[in-house]
Order: sequence, then structure tokens, then C-alpha cells
Amino acid sequence: MAAQGVTPQSEDFARWYTDVVKMADLADNAPVRGCMIIKPYGYELWENIKTALDVRFKATGHRNAYFPLLIPMSFIEKEAQHVEGFAPELAVVTHGGGKELEEPLVVRPTSETVIGHAFSDWIQSYRDLPLLINQWCNIVRWEKRPRLFLRTTEFLWQEGHTAHQTEQEAREHTLRMLDVYADMAINECAIPVIKGRKSDQEKFAGAAESYTIEGMMGNSWALQSGTSHFLGQNFAKVFDIQYLDEDNEQQYAWTTSWGVSTRMVGGVIMAHGDDKGLRLPPRIAPIQVVITPIWRTDEEREAVFVFVNEVREQLVHAGIRCHIDERDGLSPGFKFNDWEMRGVPIRIEIGPRDVEGKSVMSARRDIPGKSGKLSLPLDGIATQIPELLSSIQNSMLDTATRFRDERLHEASTYDELKEIVKDGWALIWHCGTPECEDRIKEETKASSRCFPLDENPEWHPDKAQCAVCGKPAFGRAWFSRAY
Ligand SMILES: [Zn+2]
Repeated sequence: MAAQGVTPQSEDFARWYTDVVKMADLADNAPVRGCMIIKPYGYELWENIKTALDVRFKATGHRNAYFPLLIPMSFIEKEAQHVEGFAPELAVVTHGGGKELEEPLVVRPTSETVIGHAFSDWIQSYRDLPLLINQWCNIVRWEKRPRLFLRTTEFLWQEGHTAHQTEQEAREHTLRMLDVYADMAINECAIPVIKGRKSDQEKFAGAAESYTIEGMMGNSWALQSGTSHFLGQNFAKVFDIQYLDEDNEQQYAWTTSWGVSTRMVGGVIMAHGDDKGLRLPPRIAPIQVVITPIWRTDEEREAVFVFVNEVREQLVHAGIRCHIDERDGLSPGFKFNDWEMRGVPIRIEIGPRDVEGKSVMSARRDIPGKSGKLSLPLDGIATQIPELLSSIQNSMLDTATRFRDERLHEASTYDELKEIVKDGWALIWHCGTPECEDRIKEETKASSRCFPLDENPEWHPDKAQCAVCGKPAFGRAWFSRAY
């Protein structure tokens, strides 16, 4: 299967992406259009991202819980902006148990409402706050133009939901979780994301403010890879999340929500992949080292496998995710291409000569050809391979950061923006109004990604004007083509 190769990125990036998802065995289309079947290799990749996040959530004091898939329609309708934003994407259950339901049920498009309902019960006093909850689950948002991992009608994600005593505390928590997301993206997925604030038009339906991490993909388009929302008291008021404060007075809580989904898998594919297929950062790769035994005769096979098992034992003991390719009847060349397609960071070849020399030949996925090859003695392999993996991780982040930085440009005029967004991101003074964003989108296909936190020490700075329409600027914003 892998022997055919993928469509080159330069020829058609969208087709390259679809080819990689299929040929690397990550996912398939489902019988229902817009849904996806996540295959074991794709699911293991997601599981590693999930674990990296879950560890961070627990370290910041969150606990996991689970809320129902079905939500009463009336819940969704309670928050005006929320229902307006989600209405076109809702899947609605009208029948159950063979009867028409008295009230239609919505398959959750997100869980602010049902969790808000539970929180109003759980929270009575200031002693119950902060309440820090996370849920791992599936979500349904009807998708008209589906693409595997990037836009699917059903997807997997986590949604964090927290309630706090003060506005300040809730705001700080919103940004703390944005930092957690950025840390995960940068240090686990090797994607150098930019943290920023969404414009009013781009913010979550029902949020007071939304924040995002934006990653650059291999075609220079942006991918919104995670969002964190300051919900103010919007949901607290409609779901009556109140607490008795220290002075025995009723107060509304301040809430946040934040999510990362299986979209991140698409981000990893597009940020790192090349014309040979997938390239996976070692920290999240389902298989970190693949061992390919090479032999001709039965005698050789026996000796090679004794050695292979010895190597594997040492690697497994060192905590490395390791796989032996024992498939019969396939040439080593075919196997190499196949593992390259699947993006395994290190390939080890072991043949009769390696057995004699008590060493192995390793090849890095991120450095093609001879320069990525290294002969490693069996002694010390348990320390050298982990070092090599960590050097691959760093080098992938460096490469992605260099690639991104070469495509980030400041624009002082609209004309400059138009030129830049053809193959990069443009940073420009911007008003943040929907009319201006819509115009830019229509004329250049570039959308407002975010007002980066690093570039905007304050909002609405004095005298700064939108470089496109001349209205007072909200701040400096990144514009680019996006998924
Ligand atoms: Zn403007």
C-alpha cells in the first residue's frame, strides 16, 4: 500500500493530506458522511496527545467527570448567542423508544449548558469554589464540508469547565489553560503555536472573550488548535450558578470553558509531514522505534532474532515504544518505505553483520539518507536511543519554528497584507470589526486568526488605526489562509 507514495505537497496539499491519512492507516470515512472511523494507529496518536493533556489538567487541579450526550433543547435555547451560534450545526433527536418526544433532545455540540445545570446544584457556597472539571467525550456538530480529523461531524475532544468566585480569577484561569495548551502543542507536538485573542466575530458563541493557539501548517495556512473562553457570568446567570459569599450574600459565579479536539491530529500531520508521508514527534509517536530484522537463510534468521529480542528488551526497559516488523515475504526496502510513510521517528535495521559486530544501524525519519544514519553499539543503546529521540523532538520543533518565522511578516498597508497572505501570515493594525474582517476575507481569502498576546500589551491603544478601514484599532492581528 505504502509503496505507491503520496501526491507531492507542492502539487496538491489537500490531496497530499488525504493520501497520508489513508496510507499511514490513521482514519477512514464512515458510512455517514462527515463521520470518521479512527484506526488504531490514528487512535494511538490521539491517545498520546490525550495523555499529555490529561497529566497537565490534573497537575493544575482539575478532575475528570462525565455528563450526558443528550441535552434538552430548552437548555441550548437559554443563552441567546449560544443557540444562535450552534443552531445550524445541531443534530436533534425527536424520537425515542418508538415515540415522538415531548421535548426534542440535542446531541451535545458542547456542554456548557448541561454542565451549567449541574454546577448550579454542586455550588452553594464560596467554599465550593473554584470548581475545576474536565470531560473527555465525543461531540456532534453537523459539518457540510467534512475533512478527516480537521472537520468531522462527530469528533473527540476534552472540554474543561470551571467556576470561580471573582472575575479576576476566572480571567487568570482562562489564560492559564491557554498556556497549558501552548505547552502541549510546542513541547509534545513540536508545533510552535501563537497565543492570541479572537475577534468578536470569531469568538465562541456565548463567551465574553475567546483565546486561541494558532499553528502554521506545511502550506503556511493556519490551524486553530485549541481555544480557551472567558464566559463572564453569561452561563452563570441563565443556569443560576450562585454561591453564598463570605458575607452570606448570593453572588453569581464566573465561568470558563476550553477545548482541544482530534483536530490536533490533523495539525500534527500537516505541520510535520513531507512527500514521503507522516513525520511524528517522538513524544507522541505511537511507535518511537521500529526494528526491521534482515535475513536470508533460516540460520541467519535465528541469530538475527535472538539479537533483535535483546535490543528490544533493552529499549522497552528504557520506556521506549518499540515495534518489531516481523512481516514475512516483504522486502526490507518495502518495509522502510512503509515505516517512513507512518512517520516512525527511528528505524533500526538488524542483519547478520550487525549481530556479529554487536551493533545496530539506526536511521532518523527527520533526516533523510546517509546523514540521518548512525551505528550504535548494543552496549549503551538504552541511553543513546532516548537521547536520539529527544534530539529528533527538538530538531522537529526547530524546523517547524524556522519554517513559521520565515512566513511571518508585518504589514503596514492593506496592499502589503494582500501580498503576504499568498504564502504567509500578515500582522497588521486592525479594528476587529466583522465588516472589515469580512471584506478582507472576501478580497484575499485570509481570515483574522488572532490578536497575539505577545504583540499587544494593551487593547485599543491610543491613536492606532486599522490599516484597512481607518477606524480605531483594537490591536495588531494576524491574518492568513486557514482551515
Ligand atoms: Zn478595519
